Amino acid sequence: MSIDQAHARLAAIASLQVTRNEPLARHTRFGIGGPASIFIETADEAAFVGAARAARESGLPWMVIGMGTNLVVADAGYRGIALRYSGAAMKAGGLMVRVQAGAALQDLVDFTVGEGLQGLESMTGIPGNVGAAVYGNAGAYGTSISDVAARVRYFDGDSIRETDSAGCGFRYRDSIFKRNRLEGHAWLILSAEFQFQAGEAEALRTKAAGILETRNRKYPPEMKCAGSIFKNLLLASVPESARADLSTSMVKGGKVPTAWFLEQVGAKGLANGGIRVTDDHANTLYNAGGGTAAQLRELIGELKRRVRVRYGLILEEEIQYAGFEGEPRP
Ligand SMILES: Cc1cc2nc3c(=O)[nH]c(=O)nc-3n(C[C@H](O)[C@H](O)[C@H](O)COP(=O)(O)OP(=O)(O)OC[C@H]3O[C@@H](n4cnc5c(N)ncnc54)[C@H](O)[C@@H]3O)c2cc1C
Repeated sequence: MSIDQAHARLAAIASLQVTRNEPLARHTRFGIGGPASIFIETADEAAFVGAARAARESGLPWMVIGMGTNLVVADAGYRGIALRYSGAAMKAGGLMVRVQAGAALQDLVDFTVGEGLQGLESMTGIPGNVGAAVYGNAGAYGTSISDVAARVRYFDGDSIRETDSAGCGFRYRDSIFKRNRLEGHAWLILSAEFQFQAGEAEALRTKAAGILETRNRKYPPEMKCAGSIFKNLLLASVPESARADLSTSMVKGGKVPTAWFLEQVGAKGLANGGIRVTDDHANTLYNAGGGTAAQLRELIGELKRRVRVRYGLILEEEIQYAGFEGEPRP
């Protein structure tokens, strides 16, 4: 199907906002990326699923985006259909909360903290929506979404299904939804149910406020970045020769901070055009102004090369790419 035909078909679905040539730089925190041929937004679950069905049948590339805080879009843009779901309803009952995938994760954190529901307070300040947090098993300070996710409702391309946490196949910053996309089958997360423990609202609020303050120092809200570029490393994956340089205090939960290796190879302060590595944290790259996706990819490639040459380690990106050659196609 041509872009025009796909556009006509999508525009006929009720409750969809359909735009042509929408600059994705507007929808990514890096502020980079060319246009999506067709951009769709809706808060209506049935319309979102209908759009995904139509997108799949069009034969054009298509993808789901959230709030764009972990996304790097090519300068040439995305020649296909980008779908965004903004349904954000939340419903609580006892120690459970069910929330639609388009809700901001922070709204869920604030709600649960306020209700004295313990489990997400350490994840305060992680930008993005709930669907993406499930997709990437987001986490911080020793807590991940998998610790509280009880059920996930999703569209697998044919029908709407629901699975328990085991069915999500959660791993460190990974899930069945992410692995499926990388294998070329996009599953849409529609909503999720989270299970909490009874806590003390005041104590949870104090903990969350402390974490937010630390995070805001590390990532000022106006910084055009994606948090950490690379995943941390599982200790088991670090070659013996590289382990010799590590102190035991650096190993937490079986993982070693990638930032340490990056720092040893001189990453801090490196720049390529408008893209820079921060002076404080070697795993954070940001757009200092006028940066491009090409410059970002080059700098990421250079950092990977340096760590590979010095330590024999293959770094894996935590960020997701869209619009680049060789990227999986649903
Ligand atoms: C300053 C800063 C700090 C950060 N700190 C952390 C941190 O501490 N811990 C952490 O884990 N992450 C962190 N991140 C990364 C980011 O916040 C998370 O990856 C977040 O979950 C991305 O959410 P998003 O809505 O922006 O998703 P996007 O960046 O828009 O998309 C990310 C991926 O999710 C997929 N996706 C989005 N919605 C759906 C859906 N409904 N169904 C299926 N797939 C979907 C997209 O296809 C894409 O592949 C940080 C980012 C920034 C900018």
